Amino acid sequence: MKIGILAIQGDFQAHAEMLRELGADTVEVRTVADLQGCDGLVLPGGESTTQLQFLEEEGLYQAIRKFAHNDGAIFGTCAGAILLANKVENPSQDSLKLLDMTILRNGYGRQLATDVFFGPTTLIKDTLEMVFIRGPIIEKVAPSITVLAKYNGKPTLVQKGHILAATFHPELTHDPTVHQHFLNLISNGSKPKPKSPKPRTK
Ligand code: GLN
Repeated sequence: MKIGILAIQGDFQAHAEMLRELGADTVEVRTVADLQGCDGLVLPGGESTTQLQFLEEEGLYQAIRKFAHNDGAIFGTCAGAILLANKVENPSQDSLKLLDMTILRNGYGRQLATDVFFGPTTLIKDTLEMVFIRGPIIEKVAPSITVLAKYNGKPTLVQKGHILAATFHPELTHDPTVHQHFLNLISNGSKPKPKSPKPRTK
């Protein structure tokens, strides 16, 4: 399984290390050609405004939307989650619009906004370690979106089909739960399987 990681800023290497430990091949994505042949794509943290500008300049904005519509799996963390949201506030900005939710940039404030919290998740029995770095807050999700983890009553990990978004940084912990979930949703067939031919009857 090959996972592309948008590698323009942020902690893309930490994502790559975690995914490789879980057995995936990774490739750094900076151009549309880099995305070819990938089963999944990670959009790491950073500054969503800068990332959005880069995606538009490189033609990756359209390429990533096409990738998603062709059943490529996408996992966005923090700024990556902002890029995936249908609606971005504080201030409002354009996005890939692949997850029907409203997200508030720097929702925990800009200064004392970096911290580690634990919150409930449906993925494991324990609480999940969540590292927030000037993270956004998911204010509203459409009913079609599944909330997989929460902190302080707000969704922090959400999914719809093959699109997954976290407002925190699971790649900065030693807990591979969220990355494993991402790989599972690819191997469990976000891509439609080709129909097997009907057995011939004599
Ligand atoms: N505050 C950043 C933004 O609004 C996101 C921070 C992060 O990715 N750690 O784009």
